[in-house]
Amino acid sequence: MRNRRAALAAVATAASLALTLTACGQNSEGGGEEDKKGSEGATIGISMPTKSSERWIADGNNVVTDLKSKGYKTKLVYGEDDPDQQVSQIENLITQGVDALIVAAIDNKSMNNVLQQAKDADIPVISYDRLILGTENVGYYASFDNEKVGELQGTYIVEKLGLKDGSKKGPFNIELFAGSNDDNNTRYFFQGAMNVLQPYIDKKQLVVKSKQTELNQVTTLRWDGGTAQKRMEDILTSAYRSDRVDAVLSPYDGISIGILSSLKSDGYGSASKPLPVVTGQDAEVASVKSIIAAEQSMTVYKDTRELAKVASNMVDALLNDKKPETNDTKTYDNGAKVVPAFLLEPVAVDKENYQKVVVDSGYIKQSDLD
Ligand code: BGC
Repeated sequence: MRNRRAALAAVATAASLALTLTACGQNSEGGGEEDKKGSEGATIGISMPTKSSERWIADGNNVVTDLKSKGYKTKLVYGEDDPDQQVSQIENLITQGVDALIVAAIDNKSMNNVLQQAKDADIPVISYDRLILGTENVGYYASFDNEKVGELQGTYIVEKLGLKDGSKKGPFNIELFAGSNDDNNTRYFFQGAMNVLQPYIDKKQLVVKSKQTELNQVTTLRWDGGTAQKRMEDILTSAYRSDRVDAVLSPYDGISIGILSSLKSDGYGSASKPLPVVTGQDAEVASVKSIIAAEQSMTVYKDTRELAKVASNMVDALLNDKKPETNDTKTYDNGAKVVPAFLLEPVAVDKENYQKVVVDSGYIKQSDLD
């Protein structure tokens, strides 16, 4: 089904033929059938960024399961954090004649040409979790409230240090880490966290001893834990010879694990030198275990099963000529247009509520944590 428009025209012809036959007294299954026909036999291409992180493996599997339950065929590819590889994989999916694309971009600005090819072949595109920038050829965006993710991380730090409610406590030392600079989510996470932290930095109740406070000083290319570990080591060596770090803003669990490992190598984790408050995101198994072991302090849980549903519902609506459900039509301007979005709510998780939020909901099996 290379050209969806031609396919839809064929379906329309078949549908009107069915109506004529019905009018002539032939048997018909009724109106619902015609509604479904636009998507019948359709194949959806799914392009995910990497298998190096649990969440994207789960995302890929969840999207496939959900689409299959709706009767679609799927082709799932992973770009292994290489933007060129992702672009050529999407080109292949277009050549293979997929009917819609769901894309979680590695580099949000690398997609213009390939999405033009999708447009020319009449293939609708859903931007999955990470907004694709600079092109009109993105139909819809399925994600979480990304600024809220950062707010949850910032708020956790402020509360754990006892700074809330006008307390004059401090000064406490904090270091800041952000995600990959080619991922549009990075600035939303960072902005959300800084909305909460900046007032305390301004009042000097929080001090960034490395002086690295600007987004472009604190990003972590491709969200790599090893890169973050190295940066934390450098900061500890250069800015913390006689002081202790009390909190680290980390945007993602893989980065948190890297940060914790350099802190532990530097002697943190004892009664006289406790680990700082360390945030995270994604509720990955290693980090939930670390939270249970009182190392990482918190993570932000985003139910990717729900995100998969949102994305596959969007595709299903589009292929049946219906309007996908959205709940935000203002926030996500990609530079070429404001992309209508459906945003889900993230949830802060720590030792107190991990059982209820991530285990009882079936997101992580208890046996994986034992
Ligand atoms: C996602 C996060 C994830 C990060 C690293 C971001 O785009 O929104 O959930 O932690 O990528 O994979």
